[in-house]
Amino acid sequence: VNQVSKVCFVGAGYVGGPTAAVVALANPNIKVTVVDKDATRIRRWNSKHLPIHEPGLYDVVRVARDGTSSINTHGQNAIQGRAPNLFFSTDCDQSIAEADIVFLSVNTPTKMRGIGAGSATNTAIFESVMRSIARVAKPGSIIVEKSTVPCRTAEVLQEILSIYRPGVPFEILSNPEFLAEGTAISDLLHPSRVLIGSSTSSAGLAAAKRLASVYSWVPESAILHVHTWSSELAKLVANAMLAQRISSINSISAICEKTGANIKDISKAVGQDPRIGSKFLGSGLGFGGSCFKKDILSLSYLAESLDLPEVAAYWKSVVAMNEWQGNRFVHRVMHSLNGSLFGKRVTVFGYAFKKNTGDTRESLAIPVIQQLAAEGPTEISIYDPGCAPADIESEMRAYLPSCTAIRAYADPYEACEGTSAVLILTEWDQFRYPPLPEASLNVEAGSAKLQDALSRFAHIQSQLTPAKRWAAKQMPQAFAVEPECDAGCGECARGQQTGAAKHAS
Ligand code: NAD
Repeated sequence: VNQVSKVCFVGAGYVGGPTAAVVALANPNIKVTVVDKDATRIRRWNSKHLPIHEPGLYDVVRVARDGTSSINTHGQNAIQGRAPNLFFSTDCDQSIAEADIVFLSVNTPTKMRGIGAGSATNTAIFESVMRSIARVAKPGSIIVEKSTVPCRTAEVLQEILSIYRPGVPFEILSNPEFLAEGTAISDLLHPSRVLIGSSTSSAGLAAAKRLASVYSWVPESAILHVHTWSSELAKLVANAMLAQRISSINSISAICEKTGANIKDISKAVGQDPRIGSKFLGSGLGFGGSCFKKDILSLSYLAESLDLPEVAAYWKSVVAMNEWQGNRFVHRVMHSLNGSLFGKRVTVFGYAFKKNTGDTRESLAIPVIQQLAAEGPTEISIYDPGCAPADIESEMRAYLPSCTAIRAYADPYEACEGTSAVLILTEWDQFRYPPLPEASLNVEAGSAKLQDALSRFAHIQSQLTPAKRWAAKQMPQAFAVEPECDAGCGECARGQQTGAAKHAS
């Protein structure tokens, strides 16, 4: 296999940033550059205050981006330092031009107007990046679809290349990402599989082998080689199946509430069947986030465009069930509060779309808050360990410009004072461990805060362990000391969890 010496990720988001960081950590000899047109994002990737919150991410970025100096402990066990090999830049063209492999990791949202509005994938950004790549990429470089795209997108990319660079050899591969936000680093370090889709030509198979060599830390048995179309479609199917399980169990939770059966017992009893499995069987508010809904809608649109209306309807019902569950939740809250929020304060725990992330895209908390706000409460108090209060408030102001009842808090206990209801929308461990005691609101403020800080710290430690354990084996000296964060730097307030971790260490 031709050695890969330079790779470029286009799109420094939730996928591009962490994936590039782990590729760089595991391959000190490969120069990994992540480019983005968003200069603010790149500035933050180059700082101590990364633009996204992921447990363990900073540890990985720090080693690969900043490098480590060599240390010699009393003449014994000299450990070789490493040079930086992870770079973040806004100079897209130059980084693409020098790369052996270019990963496209830009966003592929749902199309909001025109044909297929509301369900088809908007590939405009993806295609425009592809045109830039076609202009400047070096002959023979490999172009990799990392973003989630509709089936047969590679064909479109091939056409773009043949228009801009006729006769120049390029291979296009599909290599969808399966990481989940909140566990991105551990998912990347120990992937259940790495899927590589290529053409079956000898050039396609060789390119696939070359890409596989970049996943040097992944056992060969976990690298699956399939055809490009299968790889593109498999990503949509994986997300659709995960979301379908959530809608299925949530539909049963509605039956449980009417019959007196217990949904947790049902999940346990059903999940013990190895054919079904126990994961993704917890009932709740439903699925949020930037991927599940958009990918099911994309799958459903694909089925429609292939003249398979029954298939399209089947998958659309998964989304419909999810929306119904959210509305049902709000109705239950209203019912519990005697049908009125007038003169009442309501507390929302969990604003991002799930635990261990600050990502609020398509968070189900937003429609819940919007519906509650329409009922005229005195205050809706919001707390999320992964989101800065100022960010929550400004985002909600954009959704509800004339509502003055929304306030976000950095302290969960303050958010609960005198409240009529605490709505726990996501499953952050600190909402559970230690469980908020009934009397917690009356506990002397200092000790309550201390207890909270301790549980938060213990949680952070447990989150960082898998990534640290793995990386510590590679670079022991790099993980010995956490860098100091300038207390009161202001940026820490952007991610309570990140800030707490740094100050605590
Ligand atoms: P994101 O919005 O966080 O990041 C995309 C980045 O691309 C942004 O920083 C944006 O500024 C940049 N970008 C857009 N146009 C650009 C251009 N012309 N040049 C350079 N940069 C440009 O998106 P994400 O969550 O990282 O998702 C990326 C893709 O990965 C999507 O297709 C998504 O479906 C897929 N995916 C996401 C996840 C996830 O958990 N977020 C998991 C698996 C797959």
